[in-house]
Amino acid sequence: MTQRYDVIVIGGGHAGCEAAAAAARTGARTLLATHRKNTIGEMSCNPAIGGLGKGHLVREVDALGGLMGQVIDKAGIQFRMLNRSKGPAVRGPRAQADRALYRKHMQAALAEIENLDIEEVAVHDILVSRETRPRAVGIVGEDGREITAGAVVLTTGTFLKGVIHIGEKRIPAGRATAGSADGVEPPALGLSDRLYRLGLQLGRLKTGTPARLDGRTIAWDRLQMQPADDEPVPFSFMTERIEVPQIACGITHTSRETHRIIEENIGQSPVYGGGISGRGPRYCPSIEDKVVRFAERESHQIFLEPEGLDDDTVYPNGISTALPEVVQDAFLKTIPGLESARVLRHGYAIEYDYVDPRGLTRALEVEKMPGLYLAGQINGTTGYEEAAAQGLMAGVNAARAVGGLAPFVLDRAQAYIGVLIDDLISHGVSEPYRMFTSRAEYRLTLRADNADQRLTLLGIEAGLVGAARADMFHVKKAALDDARQWASETNLTPDQAAKFGLKVNRDGRRRSIPDLLSLPNIGLNDLSAIWPEIQGWPKAVAEQIEFDAGYAGYLERQEADIVAFRRDESLALPPDLDYGAVAGLSNEVRQKLIDARPATLGQAGRIEGVTPAALALLLAWVKKKSRRTAS
Ligand code: FAD
Repeated sequence: MTQRYDVIVIGGGHAGCEAAAAAARTGARTLLATHRKNTIGEMSCNPAIGGLGKGHLVREVDALGGLMGQVIDKAGIQFRMLNRSKGPAVRGPRAQADRALYRKHMQAALAEIENLDIEEVAVHDILVSRETRPRAVGIVGEDGREITAGAVVLTTGTFLKGVIHIGEKRIPAGRATAGSADGVEPPALGLSDRLYRLGLQLGRLKTGTPARLDGRTIAWDRLQMQPADDEPVPFSFMTERIEVPQIACGITHTSRETHRIIEENIGQSPVYGGGISGRGPRYCPSIEDKVVRFAERESHQIFLEPEGLDDDTVYPNGISTALPEVVQDAFLKTIPGLESARVLRHGYAIEYDYVDPRGLTRALEVEKMPGLYLAGQINGTTGYEEAAAQGLMAGVNAARAVGGLAPFVLDRAQAYIGVLIDDLISHGVSEPYRMFTSRAEYRLTLRADNADQRLTLLGIEAGLVGAARADMFHVKKAALDDARQWASETNLTPDQAAKFGLKVNRDGRRRSIPDLLSLPNIGLNDLSAIWPEIQGWPKAVAEQIEFDAGYAGYLERQEADIVAFRRDESLALPPDLDYGAVAGLSNEVRQKLIDARPATLGQAGRIEGVTPAALALLLAWVKKKSRRTAS
């Protein structure tokens, strides 16, 4: 059998696009095999990228040469910086997308990548070699065609044994997409069976989406409108300014009558009628969930988000539902502004198979099947950004493995991507996993604004970053280093400060620009009146210096925590470690360690229930073992 590709990526969603781009950029001959070329980059649900925690992931994907940031910058029709009034560590860039523009620019970006072929293949099975240690070596299409490769990345989203639920209706499908036959795309059945046969742990999860409305039938004039930011902040470090026209969204809310109708019909919702067993995303609940769980609330907010500049479809964000169509029609009429709204497509829930990510390595390779990598919703996450981040990492690692290189891994102190993958492989998921800033221990270090400073150099070394981005990064870094150096050497005494109206302690100590910026009520604007050179700093440089100075004390403390974290992370636990032989562990802890098989002591410590005492026993045991092996 001849090997046609180094890497085959199955699926043209958010994980698949990044995986294929990352593998090809590092020089691997790559095939993106997906159902339909025209659904590449499709947003199955909410047409928006970013948000709290998720925006950080997009910046990191971008800093590593990924596509999502640049594509949304060309397709975003409402940019907003969430949490603007809070500290920079928890600000979340978000943009609502023109769905068609997003697909168009994603497809165009992929078309420009060398070493990348794209084919329409409905993949039925994974080819597995019959060597002593079997490995994934290609794919089999539904038409029986075999295509071979050194590694395969599976990114099939909600398609594995997907079933759409609307009231009592059940439709086998991967998702509903405008323009597909019957309005739905077929589920992936064969692939799911293959994963079961490989002995992987699979489970069921669910997610849902609201009805789509005809914007021409919404009473916009009666609604509160929310405009885009005056100065949209791009996602990509490569984008100078956003050129796409910006629009406003409408805001409305459910009413008591809406809740009454939902309560009366709750038994007809598959979630409450017992039709769905899979767990849904806690942080993105259906309107049925909201009405039941927050029974005391009289209304819930709804954002009416246009899906495109030339598209009248409106996405009512906040009322995802799987109630029967008639009930959806009835409750929509009780929402201010939607009394006469025409439904273009009803809301639905989808249940699908996911693979327990605890069976994956840090490179997102399936432990039981070398050569097979999984990324995206298939690993139990929800969201485009989480999918893109995993896709990039799985793609680069599949390519590196084929090239005989060590995995490219990020830890929790380097990136939200590291947090995401570590959480998945250490803890698994019991409900669809989404990113939040609160999941990151080192969030003052892992800011969205400094993602390039943290990651682009690593991306360059891994071959992920093209020449233009690398040049831009080096120019910015040089400007930042110069400005930092000059700022730390430029200072004034308290008397001089007082002359300029700055309030500092009269302690005779000279204070540098970062020292002054760390004081409350002193900002760069105050200092640029004293040192006009500051006005010449590029905006991104000025922002970094101001943020770093503002957090200086905390960052120092965090640095000490990171050193301790790295010490535990560097202590590798042998993959064949016999936890049964480690004396003193409780049965519960022992079982958890056997199930999770942590790669490092640090990862073991993050498993729920694994106590510091258990870690000490583990550490002593590993040290004793390695001493014995050495002697
Ligand atoms: P997808 O974007 O689903 O892409 C999968 C790709 O694989 C598709 O291109 C498909 O054609 C291809 N494919 C599948 N099987 C095969 C096969 N056998 N052969 C070839 N190609 C194949 N996220 C949120 O953050 N919040 C939400 O509220 C939310 N609600 C959602 C509601 C619904 C109804 C759905 C369907 C999704 C929702 N999502 C939500 C999830 C979001 O759409 C996904 O997280 C994201 O799209 C996952 O990206 P992915 O790349 O893993 O998979």
